[in-house]
Amino acid sequence: MTLNSRQNHPDAGWRFDNTYARLSEVFYARLDPVPVREPKLVVFNDDLARILGLNPDALKGQEGAFIFSGNILPQGAEPIAQAYAGHQFGSFTILGDGRAILLGEQVTPEGKRFDIQLKGSGKTPFSRQGDGRATLGPMLREYIISEALHALGIPTTRSLAVVTTGEPVYREKALQGAILTRTASSHLRVGTFEYAAARANPKELRTLADYAIHRHFPNLTTDTNPYLSLFAEVLEGQASLVARWMLAGFIHGVMNTDNTALSGEAIDYGPCAFMDAYDPNTVFSSIDIQGRYAYGRQPQIIQWNLARFAEALLPLIHEDPKEAAEMAKQKLSQFSDIFRHHWLTGMRAKLGLMTQETDDSGLAEDLLDMMHRFEADYTNTFRDLASSSLPDDTMYQSRDFKEWYGRWQARLERQPDSREASRRVMKTFNPAVIPRNHRVEEALEAAVEHDDFTVMERLLEVLSRPYRQPPEEAGYHLPAPASAKPYRTFCGT
Ligand code: AMP
Ligand code: MG
Repeated sequence: MTLNSRQNHPDAGWRFDNTYARLSEVFYARLDPVPVREPKLVVFNDDLARILGLNPDALKGQEGAFIFSGNILPQGAEPIAQAYAGHQFGSFTILGDGRAILLGEQVTPEGKRFDIQLKGSGKTPFSRQGDGRATLGPMLREYIISEALHALGIPTTRSLAVVTTGEPVYREKALQGAILTRTASSHLRVGTFEYAAARANPKELRTLADYAIHRHFPNLTTDTNPYLSLFAEVLEGQASLVARWMLAGFIHGVMNTDNTALSGEAIDYGPCAFMDAYDPNTVFSSIDIQGRYAYGRQPQIIQWNLARFAEALLPLIHEDPKEAAEMAKQKLSQFSDIFRHHWLTGMRAKLGLMTQETDDSGLAEDLLDMMHRFEADYTNTFRDLASSSLPDDTMYQSRDFKEWYGRWQARLERQPDSREASRRVMKTFNPAVIPRNHRVEEALEAAVEHDDFTVMERLLEVLSRPYRQPPEEAGYHLPAPASAKPYRTFCGT
């Protein structure tokens, strides 16, 4: 097969549209992925491929290796690197896809549209000092976590394939190069708008906002102030998303504004991890020295990111800057209530509360405080509460817990639903398994060090049904042994 040939399997099912590439060229650079020496397909997501209308059989062999490495382009693709800016750890920077190429938008048989992006596909005009490449471990990590989030019902970008490139990538040492194929409702970010706003060209900004509305919120077109409504919709989506992270014990790790998607999908969570023992101050990322993106700070950080989004939109919201700022501020001030609503709805489900009482949030918060004091495992505590008998454990034996348990039982008594019904609800909202850090590392080590992908495949299988109790002996539900070193994650380079 020749490099960058556009001749490929007619039955693969590609159906590309390229609406983003039809916007003004200020929003991207046109270029092909940089071909790699020896592409090998190591992971392929059959389930996602079918949703996309792709034919797994046509893509799993050599053809897939060439397409998902960027060595050949699927029919209809118009590859680009997207331009964007962003606040990284609070500081504004001009960025852009420094190691990613958007092939285009695959239109599914149901008429849905998904960006198909190669991550680790070589240098672009936005690469700055970077090499444009990615290594195998972090790409597999994104694959595992994105599939886990998806199975938990949390909106997220997903992973279609991983190829190894047969080329070394130099970090602290030489590592295996790899490319992840990622799908997303779109890659529009708060940072895309910050980029447009920084160019100080209202026409460009308007074009981008109209594009976002058309793509994600088409019903807003006829609103009296569609741009203010766009802000409100994105705020709603992000409040809901971050509430779901909080309920699942998920820490994104690098909530820069360039990693906040307009679609409300979780994206670019390189140093992410799930918390074991409940502690709002939990940080895993090795570069997050100040704990800016700690578990408990995620709601306030997303509100901060939304404020940056509002600032970018101001010229479209009202011609008078003061009026515009007032209107945006007013919407932004609703964030806490909206977030709280999503969080409390989820917490009620986690506690099996089918009715609403004013003290429900107090009940949940008292439990969390106690879990913090006892260093209780976040996931397993809720799962324990969903079972009919509690295991032997220091917290469950404590007076504090017995007092709380009495209050909870009395609360359950006051609702008409049977205990069995509320337990059933709890079991569909409290996962039995999350991607435990040591299990993820074990899967990555087998794949990266020993070329053994079976550990990862087994883990993915369990994570695809997180609410089902896996066999006890496999231990997927267990937190890391107490002897384990504090867990550290690294940005996905
Ligand atoms: P991320 O942490 O993946 O969200 O990336 C933040 C920014 O750094 C984006 O603009 C990336 O394109 C860029 N970047 C990350 N790694 C590399 C790399 N190896 N080469 C070039 N750019 C990179
Ligand atoms: Mg990013």
